[in-house]
Amino acid sequence: MTRVIVFLLLISITTFGQTVQLNTDPIERIKDEGLNRSELIKTLTYLTDVIGPRLTNSPNYRRASVWTRDQLTSWGLKNAHLEPFGPFGRGWELKRFSAQVIEPQDIPLIAYPLAWSPATNGELVADIVYLDAASEADFSKFKGQLNGKIVLLDGVRKVEAHFEPLGRRWNDFDMLQYATDQPYPPGNPDLGPPPSPEQLQRGRFRAARLRFAFDEGAALVLSPAGAEFDGGTINAQAAEVPLAHDGKRIRAAEKDAKTLPQVVVSVEQYNRMVRMIQAGEKVRAAFDLAVKFYDDDLMSSHTIAEIPGGDLKDEVVMMGAHLDSWHSGTGATDNGAGVAVMMEAARIIQTLQLKPRRTIRVALWGGEENFGGSRFYVRDHFGHCERTTGNKCTLVKKPEYDRLSAYLNLDAGTGKVRGVFLSHNEALRPVLRPWIEPFRSMGVSTLTINGDWGSDFYFFDEIGIPIVNFIQDEIEYDTRTHHTNQDVFDRIQPDDLKQAAVVVAAFAYQIAMRDEKLPHRPM
Ligand SMILES: [Zn+2]
Repeated sequence: MTRVIVFLLLISITTFGQTVQLNTDPIERIKDEGLNRSELIKTLTYLTDVIGPRLTNSPNYRRASVWTRDQLTSWGLKNAHLEPFGPFGRGWELKRFSAQVIEPQDIPLIAYPLAWSPATNGELVADIVYLDAASEADFSKFKGQLNGKIVLLDGVRKVEAHFEPLGRRWNDFDMLQYATDQPYPPGNPDLGPPPSPEQLQRGRFRAARLRFAFDEGAALVLSPAGAEFDGGTINAQAAEVPLAHDGKRIRAAEKDAKTLPQVVVSVEQYNRMVRMIQAGEKVRAAFDLAVKFYDDDLMSSHTIAEIPGGDLKDEVVMMGAHLDSWHSGTGATDNGAGVAVMMEAARIIQTLQLKPRRTIRVALWGGEENFGGSRFYVRDHFGHCERTTGNKCTLVKKPEYDRLSAYLNLDAGTGKVRGVFLSHNEALRPVLRPWIEPFRSMGVSTLTINGDWGSDFYFFDEIGIPIVNFIQDEIEYDTRTHHTNQDVFDRIQPDDLKQAAVVVAAFAYQIAMRDEKLPHRPM
């Protein structure tokens, strides 16, 4: 009896609802679902605040892999699984850390160890020595002086006042520049400019200082926060392994890597330590660094899930972002944001039962940072370049190559989408142009001929798969959050990411629906 009444009630509500808003345009429905019933912030909160930083192969990373797979399954995606890649190397987890100057006065330090740093094996109390060397010839002054000491590897880094805001959106002038950019010259432009001779020399000298400190038995080395970061913001990536005497380079994540504990300190405090020593003070500090390595499984995995297609189900549209992050923040803008957007875009299409013609496949990549983990997936599924003279790519295709229409990528922080990098594929312009129109009032306006650099799309682009990589507002990416201890949930712009999710969902849907696959760029 009760059942019948509830049933009748539901019909009348539904009927009423349909007469009020009968919206059949899939793009408008995507906007409505993504802006009014978004699950994105819930997803991102769980990834960042609950799971936390997701260094590849750490316990947090593995937890995030399982959680994202199960979450995508719970929304109705099919074939959700963890696809192995590697070997990547060891997992690493920070168990405990404290850092404090204790003489001639007490100064608690804003500091963070670099990933894969070994432990100090209990509290280390030692003098701080400033390796004051302008060139390798100066090392002789420090021979026998560094054993068991805490060593400052760098000099004072100048701190500038901030006269510009830390956060910004692209203005009309910026967008016009994107729109009218000259194509970069051919070659691998999307890898960014090659290092200058001065940069190469600085890198070599830095490596020599680390090698010297290691050989001399230093207990721990300190560096100041790099790039433009100050005010307590620290950028912490992977520890370095001293270059072998034969010049061989290995990553700290590799199983047999031998290095020493490495800590980055807020630039103002680092500079003070250098100046205190230069003024003749004897500076001592206490560091306690406990870590855990996981080397039982050196393989890692990507999270993969699908919305099966209809009449063209054997063809695929892929969209991805990287699940791994650095360890001092919670990987909110790099790249929890992209992961939450891709998951939300898939949820929207699935929830609305839009029934794409092609299969839409979501990939949440592992090992993007410092490793390029997605290259394994691309090689296993689609193909690779054999490089011949002149670095020319001879494409070696897998059968799946011709069934992949495009790869969509988002990995530039928390900013909303402003357009698309055509990645040197001029043939995409007339296809994408009309798809921008429904989002013009939401800030999407521009197609730029060039590509961005430095994310998972690179490996797809390298073998000529059409790339849809989104231009995003900068917000505070390079000034505050990129690879830093401030890459946390509170730096997220929720409305920007909701916008990004509906744009990505709409583009993925359009690519999945059109009669042809997307056109390729000339190789
Ligand atoms: Zn990233």
